[in-house]
Parts: sequence; C-alpha cells; structure tokens
Amino acid sequence: MTSGVDVSNLSDGGRNPAAAGLSVVVPVLNEAAGLAVLHERLCALATTLRQRYGLACEVVYVDDGSSDATLAIARDLPATALDVQVVSLSRNFGKEAALMAGLDHARRGAVLFMDGDGQHAPELVERLVGHWIDDGYDVVFTAKAHRSNESATRRLGVKIFYSLINWGARQRIPEDAGDFRLLSPRAAAALRQLPERNRFFKGLSNWIGFRQIRIDYEPAPRAHGVTSFNIGRLLGLSIEGLTSFTVAPLRVASLLGLLLAFAAFLFGLSILWETVVGGKSVPGYPSLVVGLMTIGGVQLIMIGVMGEYIGKILSEIKARPIYFVAEHSVRTADGDAAKAPAARTAAE
Ligand code: UDP
Ligand code: MG
Repeated sequence: MTSGVDVSNLSDGGRNPAAAGLSVVVPVLNEAAGLAVLHERLCALATTLRQRYGLACEVVYVDDGSSDATLAIARDLPATALDVQVVSLSRNFGKEAALMAGLDHARRGAVLFMDGDGQHAPELVERLVGHWIDDGYDVVFTAKAHRSNESATRRLGVKIFYSLINWGARQRIPEDAGDFRLLSPRAAAALRQLPERNRFFKGLSNWIGFRQIRIDYEPAPRAHGVTSFNIGRLLGLSIEGLTSFTVAPLRVASLLGLLLAFAAFLFGLSILWETVVGGKSVPGYPSLVVGLMTIGGVQLIMIGVMGEYIGKILSEIKARPIYFVAEHSVRTADGDAAKAPAARTAAE
C-alpha cells in the first residue's frame, strides 16, 4: 500500500484531452421554473463544444430533495445534444452533498460544476473548457470579480472567514472563489479520493493542487426564485467549512487564552505596584467580577470551538453515507435509455 494516490494515468500528456469528454454537474433544489431554459442553454453549449473541440458532453442533474416539479421536469428534458442523467436524492442533503453525488455519477472524464438557477452562465463554460483543453489547466475556477453590491458586514465576514481558513495554510483558498469550476479528469479523480464526509468543496478542490487558474466573472442575477442560503445558513456553512478544513479556530482560542493570561499577569503586577509602592488598598469587587466574567466567557468560547471539532470527529466516525439516491436515470443522445450504472456511493 502506498501512502499517496497516483492519478497520472488520467493525464494523456496533452495529446487529446477532449477525448475524455465532459460531465456538467448541476445541483437543483426547487428550480422547476428555470430548468427547461437552463437545459436549452446547456444543449446549445454542448453543440458548440462538440463542434469546436469534438468534446462529448453529458449533464447530471442532482435533484436535492425538491418539493416542486423539478424532478418531473428533469425526467423529461430532451437528451438530443447531450446525454442526460437525473440523480434524485432521497431528501434535501444540502448543496455540498448534491455536488458529491454529481461527482460520483459523472461518467465522463472532466467534470464541471454549475448552479441550476441561471447565475452561472453556460456561455462562460466555453472559456473554462478552453483553459483546460488549450492551456492544460486542471482546475479552472471562477471567482466573483467584485463584491461592491454586498453589504459591508458581509464583506467583513468574508474577509474574516478567509483569513482564518488560510491561516498558516500551504495552499491558500482564493478569496471569492465559487463552486462554478471545471476539473480535469485527473483533478476529478483526485477529488474522489478524499475520504472525508464533512466536505468543503471549494477548499478541497483547491487543496488537491495541480495546475489551477482563476477566472473573474460577475454572477448573473438569479433567473427566478430566491437563494436558499440566508444569513443563518451561510454562517452555518462557514463554521462547517472552517472546522472541517482547518484548526485555525482552535489556535485562535489558545491565543486568546494566552493573551488573557498575559493581561491578567500585567494587571496583577500593577496591583502589586499600587499596594507596595503607592501604599493604596485596591478595591477588589469590580476587578474581580470583570476578571471572572472574561475568563468565564473565554472558557465557554473555547469549549464551544472544541465541541464543533468533537462533533466533526463523531460524524466522521459514524461514517454515514453522504447521500441516498432514490431514483437514477441515464438517457443518451442516441436515444436509448442506458442502464443506470451503479453509483459510486459514499458507502463504498
Ligand atoms: N442547492 C441545492 N441544495 C441546497 C441548496 C441549494 O442543490 O440545499 C442548489 C440550488 O438549486 C442552486 C445552487 O445549489 O442550483 C445554488 O443555490 P443558491 O442559488 O440558493 O445559492 P447562491 O447562488 O445564493 O449561493
Ligand atoms: Mg444562486
């Protein structure tokens, strides 16, 4: 047994990368209103890519427990310009799990992830594919060109999040990078090798390394409906991302403890000075209460942070599957409904 993974057999030395084909993974949660339009745009894209690079495409719609007609619509989408897979999860498992399900079911070599709400323009995909096929990049990721349309608090939150997650990291996660990205066959294979259940997709696809390139773009407004990520869910996702990816919060907690101990030491010295040299008797009550409350607060924060990590350990040990597939269909462009290949489930 080796301690690393060799995925070099998936790189063809740049001879004809397009031969591997491309799987487009689209997680969808209640996107019934815009799915047909998105599919049309993807069909147009597939035709262009086939003409330009001879690239065969498939799309994998992962229905993440939608409560509207998303699944029914996805089942009937035409598989003319590209193969269509529909993977329906047994309930809402969250976008990260849906992305994983798409990656597991993708049958082509390269994998592209994009949202199903029209915010990630299929037209931009041509550029991403160009960087993979023409320039030989393995991870082509998009990032928000600017955040001027976001509130100051949100921007501050993003800054804090990235400085924490990148603290002391050898491979920095680029700020503002999104889930809209393309992975070459070997990068996709590398991502499949990561065994953890608590996944922070953006971080992991950065962590695997290979040749990466950033593309700045401006996300389009949502074609319909509203985002499912409100501030509470974003906060949850940030804590999830941080604790599953880095021990920075633990280090911050230790540093805070150290800082507090140092401040207390200085405070003690000053009291000693006032009593011995100044001859004053220092009133005890306020300083005692403030000291107690500070120490109590810091200890509670530390316990909370540690609890987050213990929770992560528990969920990794339980080793539950990341998702369950309730229904799976594959339709190929030449008309026949191919037998659905057994999914590489997380349980394997
Ligand atoms: N999504 C999903 N499962 C979820 C939440 C979202 O599959 O639990 C999908 C959603 O249908 C969309 C994409 O993930 O295609 C991005 O979601 P959304 O637009 O709500 O997020 P935002 O663009 O605001 O980050
Ligand atoms: Mg969106």
